[in-house]
Amino acid sequence: MSKQPIVIVGGGIVGLSTAYELSERGHDVIVLDREMIHDSASCGNAGMLSIGHPPLTRPGVSVRGLKWMLDPTSPLYIRPRLDPGLISWLWTFHQHCNQGHLNRCMVTLCQMGWRSLDRFERTIDAESIDCGYRRTGWLDVVLHEENMDAAEAEAAMLAPHGFTHERLDGAALRAMSPCFTDEVAGAVLHKDSANIDPRAYTKGLARALERRGVRVLTGPAWDATGLERDGTGRVTGVVCANGTVVSGAAVVLAAGVWSTGLAVDVGLDLPMQGARGYHVQLDGMPGVPATACVLHETFIAVTPMGGRLRLAGTLEISPLDAPPMPRRLAMLADGARAYLRGIDESRASEHWSGWRPCLADGMPAIGWVPGVEGLMLATGHAMLGMTLGPVTGELVADLIDGRRPSIDLSMVEPARLAAAVA
Ligand SMILES: Cc1cc2nc3c(=O)[nH]c(=O)nc-3n(C[C@H](O)[C@H](O)[C@H](O)COP(=O)(O)OP(=O)(O)OC[C@H]3O[C@@H](n4cnc5c(N)ncnc54)[C@H](O)[C@@H]3O)c2cc1C
Repeated sequence: MSKQPIVIVGGGIVGLSTAYELSERGHDVIVLDREMIHDSASCGNAGMLSIGHPPLTRPGVSVRGLKWMLDPTSPLYIRPRLDPGLISWLWTFHQHCNQGHLNRCMVTLCQMGWRSLDRFERTIDAESIDCGYRRTGWLDVVLHEENMDAAEAEAAMLAPHGFTHERLDGAALRAMSPCFTDEVAGAVLHKDSANIDPRAYTKGLARALERRGVRVLTGPAWDATGLERDGTGRVTGVVCANGTVVSGAAVVLAAGVWSTGLAVDVGLDLPMQGARGYHVQLDGMPGVPATACVLHETFIAVTPMGGRLRLAGTLEISPLDAPPMPRRLAMLADGARAYLRGIDESRASEHWSGWRPCLADGMPAIGWVPGVEGLMLATGHAMLGMTLGPVTGELVADLIDGRRPSIDLSMVEPARLAAAVA
């Protein structure tokens, strides 16, 4: 094992989980994050550890996305602009919205999902992280009776991957969770998933790392502004905004959607777009669902966190410097009202928006950057980063240790994106 530390850029769920795995294996680790760990996507997400969830690249999604392009109140909104990066991303995305690609993705994502839940449970136990983890499944809540069969068919497609489900009619659903309105037709319970308060987990993990002697350096001084390379081109460290060069045996780029900026330093043009989402948190609800839900017709995620309810969702592909859109935030309460009693903006205690890192083929990038020694990618987890963070950490640690990973990584290896490496 090298005496030099492993340097991780990004203290979201992916970076912190990677740091945890590496420190467990005896590596010296440094995590750099330009912000305090409380506001990233890894804190503001819906907290659904929805293993078996498909990627964004599904048959029909690209065509539907283009139709929705001009409607800022559609669930998937692409802010129209003449940006060659966006146009190329959309074209690649479209080419991957087919059944064959989806089938291949699902094999990898399902294997990763099962493994990730094991890692969550192990870490929560070992570090006594109080984060409301509950393996109670998630409910696909259906307003209109005519959509029940389609919701059940989606769940049934996961059976070959080991997933189980149960169809509930409206009465059975309300017996479980009286907070649902009488208009709701029923739900499909995906039994194997879990949910969590993501901010509590992420902060708990950061504290556990500090107890283990991992240096978690946060704040503007630790903004990574470039990569240091030696005469052979090997990446040997990270240049920070305070002028320090943090040297390491390897650098892991886990900076979410911002990973693209540093990848460019080694000539890697990642096909990445940020997909913004929002959450509103409601306090003092008259009742909350027994477990996390997705509202079938409006795609809004609803997660009980303590006595509070987090409504999260909407997908907006915009430039990273574009201001948040208040009317998309308002879509959350508007889209939940028909399903749940007591949805009222006056109960809102928190409004938030953040970015999902979306690669054009819908899959994350996990592995060494080909042709660039010393640089590992761990990014692009899109809608599934909270779910897949822990297993990503394990896979990265395997690769750093030269061990054969427990999962076939061909669908996530950076080589598929690396045509642009100089
Ligand atoms: C509304 C919404 C709901 C979601 N719901 C779910 C869900 O229910 N389940 C699920 O699995 N996923 C969900 N996701 C997706 C999930 O949140 C993301 O995939 C995940 O958080 C990405 O984690 P990350 O560690 O890659 O990136 P991030 O959480 O974005 O962390 C990256 C970190 O890198 C730091 N950074 C960036 N650039 C630099 C730099 N140059 N120098 C130093 N630090 C830097 C940033 O400050 C940040 O802290 C949701 C996302 C959104 C927006």
